[in-house]
Amino acid sequence: MTSSARPLLNRRLAEFGTTIFAEMSALAQQTGAINLGQGFPDTDGPEAVREAAVRALREGHGNQYPPGPGIPELRTAIAGHQQRRYGLAYDPDREVLVTVGATEAIAASLLALVEPGDEVVALEPYYDSYAACIAMAGGTRVPVTLRPHAGGFALDLDELRAAVTPRTRLLLLNTPHNPTGTVLSRAELAAVAELACERDLLVITDEVYEHLVFDGAEHIPLASLPGMRERTVTIGSAGKTFSFTGWKVGWITASPELVTAVRSAKQFLTYVGSGPFQYAVAEALRLPESYFDDFRADHQAKRDLLSAGLAAAGFEVFRPAGTYFVTTDIRPLGESDGFAFCRALPKRCGVVAIPNAVFYDHREEGAPFVRFAFCKQTAVLEEAVTRLKALAG
Ligand SMILES: *Cc1c(COP(=O)(O)O)cnc(C)c1O
Repeated sequence: MTSSARPLLNRRLAEFGTTIFAEMSALAQQTGAINLGQGFPDTDGPEAVREAAVRALREGHGNQYPPGPGIPELRTAIAGHQQRRYGLAYDPDREVLVTVGATEAIAASLLALVEPGDEVVALEPYYDSYAACIAMAGGTRVPVTLRPHAGGFALDLDELRAAVTPRTRLLLLNTPHNPTGTVLSRAELAAVAELACERDLLVITDEVYEHLVFDGAEHIPLASLPGMRERTVTIGSAGKTFSFTGWKVGWITASPELVTAVRSAKQFLTYVGSGPFQYAVAEALRLPESYFDDFRADHQAKRDLLSAGLAAAGFEVFRPAGTYFVTTDIRPLGESDGFAFCRALPKRCGVVAIPNAVFYDHREEGAPFVRFAFCKQTAVLEEAVTRLKALAG
């Protein structure tokens, strides 16, 4: 037994209890509700890619520790993808690192680059692992809040600038942004780049939804802006792009110095992972353009279906420009507490959602917002929309 005077969980992590996803998924199971809480697809990715994984496993590729930086085939495919899509040239041997999902890329980058006491400026609401990883690195998070504006959520560039202090080490960006669906414009990214260069900041940019940008808009990698390539760690993942979230294949692209630093942390987290899946993802990244077009069009249609249903049920809907989430405001329904609303929703109408407040330090800022995932089969979304209509009545 341990001393009862001292809590088991250390001070750095004490504030991070069990994630809301566990609570809400359990609630979905108990009540038989449709789970639009956690963002995972209910249909697996392309058959050919699955077969590539089976083949790798059978032929003995990746069943033993793959190389620390990732298998050369995958690093070459990642570099090819960045070159083809964005005109960004990365050396597969020195500027690409394969990680165990974007989650490990985030953790390793923060653990490698943040000194205790450093401030990390991040867009609030944020993906839940950011706050925990900044804490594990001993950093201090400084949120810059995205606020409702013109039917979406917007970044206030003056607030961003004001958040940077002499102690700021890095900016942690996410575009397309989970949970708001915001896609930063070229002008916004240019302002971020100017600030980073002027204040000599590193940037970690989480671009796992790079292929889910709607309405003909384009995803612009921050690293493609002047002065940014050498100070930016760009994070990607096969989980979201190819609908294999269980495979946990992610990556970073960055300068040799940054990759070396991040690898120093990564090698002691998992060393390597996802052996056979690395071979399959190398093939996936070479799928024809039509795969990416269909993937985007399919999710855009699902966004439209769920958004229209939520609006009909009485929510204010913030139309997402990207990702597979739609954020709503519950105040038109006469509600103001997203937590209470989400805890009651499965019983009220058989749907599970996530209160955005969990993604905020300023909980009150996020209180009336609720997130629904639309990466589900059309029939499932149609049923959810039918059930949600009960709220309007
Ligand atoms: C899902 C998600 C991740 C995690 O990606 P994995 O590859 O599954 O580890 C990281 N960042 C954001 C914004 C996400 O939504």
